[in-house]
Amino acid sequence: MFIYQILSAQYSISHGIKATPLIFDNMKKSSGIRQLFPFLRHGIKTSVMHKILIIEDEIKIAHSLCQVLEGEGYAVSSAVTGEEGFFLINTDIFDLVILDLMLPGRSGLEILEALRRRDTQTLVLILTARDTVEDRVIGLDCGADDYMIKPFAVSELLARLRVLLRRGRSEQIFRLQFADLDLDLVAREARRNGHVLELTAKEFDILAYLVRHQGRFISRGMIARDLWQETTRATPLDNVIDVHMARLRRKVDKDFPEKLLHTIRGVGFIIKKEEP
Ligand code: CA
Repeated sequence: MFIYQILSAQYSISHGIKATPLIFDNMKKSSGIRQLFPFLRHGIKTSVMHKILIIEDEIKIAHSLCQVLEGEGYAVSSAVTGEEGFFLINTDIFDLVILDLMLPGRSGLEILEALRRRDTQTLVLILTARDTVEDRVIGLDCGADDYMIKPFAVSELLARLRVLLRRGRSEQIFRLQFADLDLDLVAREARRNGHVLELTAKEFDILAYLVRHQGRFISRGMIARDLWQETTRATPLDNVIDVHMARLRRKVDKDFPEKLLHTIRGVGFIIKKEEP
């Protein structure tokens, strides 16, 4: 006997009809269920029903995002003011929040900070019209997982959402790679071009963190928060982080012509390949 869970979002079916079927976890794999719901055989989107909250005051953007995301099979809620968004994150649980920064009432950053004080699992993708490195870093610093600058291509937004939702915040993976770096998260061993790097526990954690966020600016605040669990910024800790980074850079880059760890003055760090 199956236990049915009613899922409310719409599913697109291959022949173009939209329906709101009753589906549940492993039912999709069941041939009995396929007999009950014949359209399941025909390429229905079977992604897990993720709940997404859109907090965006530009009605046109909010509306079209809702439509597109529902069409992709997500369960979508939306809020058009900061207050409304704040209320929803405090009364419901979402897998991912698409968060505009400039909102009437309560700013996106205030909402993000409030969310992170009690919830470290919900993914947050920031939408921002501001195009400065500093604003993006502040957002990531406050616990956002990704950001997009307006105007953006919906196809790119959907791709980013898929990556974030697949990866999650507490991703369980055992190996990280970047360029010729290879990190074994179980053995806690890092190799570059096959050579073992002699890293301390903290250096390994920092390197793994940078590789997880490869190509993105990582501020000292993010490292303090996520690796030292320090929520308040303190200059002494910044100095400690700098010392660890200096040692890590020596161990990772000194013997190799291509440098991977870079310091961006006033911003933080990034792991990336050198420009050709
Ligand atoms: Ca706005």
